[in-house]
Parts: sequence; structure tokens; C-alpha cells
Amino acid sequence: MFDTTIAGSLPKPAWLAETQKLWPQWRSEGDALQQAKLDATLLWIKAQEDAGLAIIGDGEMSRQHFVHGFLEQVEGIDFAHKVEMGIRADRYKAMVPQVVAALTLKGRVHATEARFLRAHTTRRIKFTLPGPMTIVDTVADRFYGDRARLAMAFAELLNQEALALQADGVDIVQFDEPAFNVYMDEVGTWGLAALERAAQGLSCTTAVHICYGYGIPANVDWKKGLGEEWRQYEKIFPLLARSSIQQVSLECVHSHVPPQLMGLLQGKDVMVGVIDVASDQVESAEEVADTIGRALQYVPRERLIACTNCGLAPMHRALAERKLEALAQGAALARARYAGP
Ligand code: ZN
Repeated sequence: MFDTTIAGSLPKPAWLAETQKLWPQWRSEGDALQQAKLDATLLWIKAQEDAGLAIIGDGEMSRQHFVHGFLEQVEGIDFAHKVEMGIRADRYKAMVPQVVAALTLKGRVHATEARFLRAHTTRRIKFTLPGPMTIVDTVADRFYGDRARLAMAFAELLNQEALALQADGVDIVQFDEPAFNVYMDEVGTWGLAALERAAQGLSCTTAVHICYGYGIPANVDWKKGLGEEWRQYEKIFPLLARSSIQQVSLECVHSHVPPQLMGLLQGKDVMVGVIDVASDQVESAEEVADTIGRALQYVPRERLIACTNCGLAPMHRALAERKLEALAQGAALARARYAGP
């Protein structure tokens, strides 16, 4: 009861990359960089285990950004000529690569870090990939001319990699789809179909993470404009409840999401965000257990997984470690409180 896990990313150590940035520059290159990525991965595997988390991730140490890490292994994308684009409905500007030809995979994307993760923990492991809609919203299309077609092209590549990750021993493949909270109508017309295509044929557990973004200023400002109640999930959760995806990771603590919206995910495991990634205040175990208690009004206890609201990539490293401990300690307290008969 109340398994614990992170949404995906963790802060990169200062010797690996610039800190507190969403698109950090690496500190080294070539073989030294490859070694540094794996050293950082090992460090975070140990930190997650020491904190007491049940499901372990690689912390996304090997990718510069959660979307572009995948795109670097895709043929048909021009990384040499990035262009500025407004992303997430123009919430912020980013320099993005361009799709210039039909898309294929150059080879495996995450084999090294997935196998490394499998080799260095005996706990269950989760691996994250960007979802097709979010990828489409983070590249400039000069070839397909249609977001739905482009999403399906990416979904086929994601599916190849997801099946290979499963063969590497990954227990949970999670697709990150923050764009689902921005283009709610398109989720129904093509976003969910593309997501299910990406997960097609997987026999391991499948998950989707839908959040309101990292704790960066552009997102914090955007959230202020969303009003007293954030009801984006209300449109997309009923669709997800009918989908083949098994777990849904959502934002909860300190958000303005009405908690009853979690009740729209019947039949799904729910990864409830009990750790705020936009605050430097470390949650107490009591606060985490209280958040779990509120979620239990809408999520059966055997289906509740305690998680972070989003990735911790832009956070101070020491702070992130303390947040992982709070997550595990809060879930343990909730187990004692809510175990029941
Ligand atoms: Zn997120």
C-alpha cells in the first residue's frame, strides 16, 4: 500500500551540468560526459533507495531536457538550426529543433542508462519518455504539416523504444504529457490515440504523467492565471479512464486542482503528487500523510501511489534529497494511519 516514486527528473550534480536550469549545458564531453552521466545516475539510485522509495528511476541524468533527450536519437530532425518557438500555447519561448524529413530512430535511445539502472537496483524501476503530444509541442514542424500526423509518427518511434526498454527489464514505462493540460480538446481528437499507439503491445505497467510543469517562473505565472480552480483534468481524466494506460500521475499538493477530479480515474492506479516541486519548503511527513488522506476520499488505497507533483530537475540537489525523504516518511506514516482492517 502507498508505493512511493518520483515523477521522473532529479537535479543534475554541479560536476555534470549547469544547475537549476531546464536546458543545462554539460560540464564535459565525449567519454568523460558518458561516464559522468552514469556516475550521477548511480548517485541518485542510491539516494532514492536510502530515502526509502519503492520504485526507482534514473533521474534523467543522461538527457539534457526531457523532450530533447529523445529527439537527439531521431533521424529527420535538424538540431543544427534551432528556431525560437512559443510552446505550451505560447506560455514560454524555447529554442527548438526542426522536423525536416520523415522520422526514424537512429538506434536505441536509452539502452545504456536503462540497463545501468536495472543492474544497480533490485527494486522495481520506472523509465520515462516524453509523450507524443508534448514532443509535437516542443519541435518546429517543417515536414508533416499536421500535428496529429506528426504525433503518430513520433508515437511509432516511442513505441519501438518503449518495447526495448521493457526488454531491458523496465517495470513501468511512463510517458510525460504536460501538453495534455494545455490542449484538452486535441487530447480527445488525437493526443490520447497517439499516446496509446506509443504504449501499444507493452506488457509491463504503463503510465502517463500530466502536470502543470516545473517550478520555473513562466509556469508559476501561468498558474496564477488559471483561476481559483484548475479544472483541466476534468476534461481529460474521463478519456484516460477509458484508455489502456494503467497509471496516471497528477499534481495535487499546493495546486488548485479540485481533489474530487481524482475520482474520474476509476480503474486506474493514481500517482498522487504529495511533494511540491515549485517550493523550497520541505514537506513534513504529517503534511504528506494528510495529502494522502485527502486523496483517499477519491482513490482506493490499493490504487494510490505517493509521488512528486512533477520532476525535481531545476531544484537544489540537497533540497531534492530532503524532499525524497519526506515522500517516503510521509507514505510510511500514511500506512500506519490508514492501514485499516
Ligand atoms: Zn511534470
